[in-house]
Amino acid sequence: MLVHTIKELRELRKSWDGNLTVGIVPTMGALHEGHLSLIKKAKATCDKVVVSVFVNPIQFGPSEDFDKYPRTLEKDVELCKSAGVDVVFAPSPSEMYGGKCESAGSNESKPDAYEEGNRLSNDTLTYVCPPFFYVNKLCGKSRVGHFDGVCTVVLKLFNIVQPDFGFFGQKDAQQVIVIKKMVHDLNVPIKIIQCPIVREDSGLALSSRNKYLTEQGKQDALVLSRILNNIKACFKRGINDVSALKETAYAYLTDKYDLEYLEILDKNTLEEKEKADKDTIALIACRVEGVRLIDNIYLGEEE
Ligand code: AMP
Repeated sequence: MLVHTIKELRELRKSWDGNLTVGIVPTMGALHEGHLSLIKKAKATCDKVVVSVFVNPIQFGPSEDFDKYPRTLEKDVELCKSAGVDVVFAPSPSEMYGGKCESAGSNESKPDAYEEGNRLSNDTLTYVCPPFFYVNKLCGKSRVGHFDGVCTVVLKLFNIVQPDFGFFGQKDAQQVIVIKKMVHDLNVPIKIIQCPIVREDSGLALSSRNKYLTEQGKQDALVLSRILNNIKACFKRGINDVSALKETAYAYLTDKYDLEYLEILDKNTLEEKEKADKDTIALIACRVEGVRLIDNIYLGEEE
C-alpha cells in the first residue's frame, strides 16, 4: 500500500496488532538490488515492513544533486509489492517539514527555506546533530550538514513509523555508525540492523547514482572496488601499516579520477589507527565523470 501522509501512516500503524514486530527500510527511492536486500532482511526479521521513499532535501548541499536525483516512485512501488512490503511511505518535503512550498524549478516541491542550503532556517525545524567526532571526516567533511539532515529525517521516520527494527546498508558505513550513535544517545527503542553491500558481478557497488554514469564511466568506476580489494589483499599478505596500505591506491588513480578521500579506520568508532587489524575498515569516495561514488570494505572479514 502506498501512503503519502503521516496521518495515514499512523492510522495504519495503529491498526496493526501491538504484538507484531515492525521494520523500516529508509530509502531515497530509485530502488535497486541493494535496497531489495535490506527489504528481504526486514521481511525475514519482522512481521510488517515499511519502506520509506523520500528524497530528503535537508541532507543535500545547495550545489548537490537534489533536483536531478532519480525519482521512480511507480516502479519502486511495484518492486516493493513484489517483495511483500506492507507499506510504502512516500511523503512530500512539505509533509515532512511543513512550510510554504514552491517548486523551485523541479517537479517536486521543497520547503521554503531550502534555498538557504541544506539547513532549514533555525525557527522552522529542530535538528538532530550528531557529534562532531563522527562527522568531521569522510562524507561529513565534504558534505557539511549532511548528517544533520540524515539524522533529523531518520529520527522523524522512526517517530512516525515507530518500528522495532531499522535496516541500513554497509554501503553507507559512516551513516550506520552515526545512526547507531543517535539511537544509543537518544534512547530510541529501535534495533539497527546493518546489511552487507550488494555489488554488480563486476564489483561495482550498486547505487542509485550509478544511473548518472555512461558505460565507460561504469567501467572506470570499478577502480573504487579494485583499490579496496587490493588494500584488503595486501593486509591479508601481512602489510598492516596504514600509510603503506593507502599508498597502494595511487597506482590506480589516473587523471580521470578525482579522489575525495581514502581512509583506513576503526570499523566501529571511525578512529584513526596506525596499524590495521581485524576491526579495520577501508573507505573511499571518488568522483568518476563528475559523479560522487562511495564504497568500503572490512579488512578483517570474509565478504
Ligand atoms: P539510499 O536510497 O541511497 O539513501 O539508500 C537507502 C539504504 O539502502 C541505505 O541504508 C543504503 O546504505 C542502502 N544501500 C544503498 N546501496 C546499497 C548497496 N549497494 N548494498 C546494500 N545496501 C545499499
